[in-house]
Amino acid sequence: MIVSLELKRLTQLIFPPRCIFCGELLGYDHKTDISVCGSCMGKIGFYREAEMLPYAQYSMLNTDANTGENSGTAFAGCDRYICVCRYSGIIKASLIRYKFHGRAQYYRTYAALMQKKLVEFYSILSSTDMLVSVPLHQKRMKKRGYNQAYLISEQLSRLTGIPERSHIIKRETHSDNQSHISGNIRHRNIKGAFSVCSHDGVPGKRILLIDDIITTGSTINECAAVLKKAGASDVTGFALASGRRRYKTQLIKNTVD
Ligand SMILES: [Zn+2]
Repeated sequence: MIVSLELKRLTQLIFPPRCIFCGELLGYDHKTDISVCGSCMGKIGFYREAEMLPYAQYSMLNTDANTGENSGTAFAGCDRYICVCRYSGIIKASLIRYKFHGRAQYYRTYAALMQKKLVEFYSILSSTDMLVSVPLHQKRMKKRGYNQAYLISEQLSRLTGIPERSHIIKRETHSDNQSHISGNIRHRNIKGAFSVCSHDGVPGKRILLIDDIITTGSTINECAAVLKKAGASDVTGFALASGRRRYKTQLIKNTVD
């Protein structure tokens, strides 16, 4: 432990951490895993209140404010959601670098920000049996070299001591990047995309399902539905960022027992 701490200090001395958003040097005495300068921290669109939306409320929010279109994710998925901040500004730009431009090292900062948020939800933190990340298809994984959600999940496991069990679920189908597709089609594309590899240890378990971003919720809900079918008793969707605009308008607080 002492050796690894010394090694960390030495590494920080040689390679002082930089803010993942603006590149500013943070100095070798930087103590946390959050590599964000004060100025950038102030620019992150953190959700100020505790957002936990039971599924029904989340589904209501799936209606697009402009078109009135509902993405139609009308099936049992996550029991609730926790997101740290809005998918906009410097967070959006950094997530694009993280996923598409090889900045895998950002996972440390993202996981640390998520852990900070999770502490606000002590009842979930203390009752979670396992962390599972939304899987990537092998093809995508090979191309990217890493699963961005898994890196975060693994680090969260180190920070919280909750076991990481992402190996229990895999992605069967390879779909193209869905970010430009509307909710209805996304939902259709994702149906049947996941399967549980081992039912061992899933029945009755409370799972924190990790992804980097929740947009329509179709992907994480399908993943949650598959885990529930395998016997999971409770699934909380947990992401760094949410693309939802109306998150704050329908807050349901402290609904977890
Ligand atoms: Zn900065």
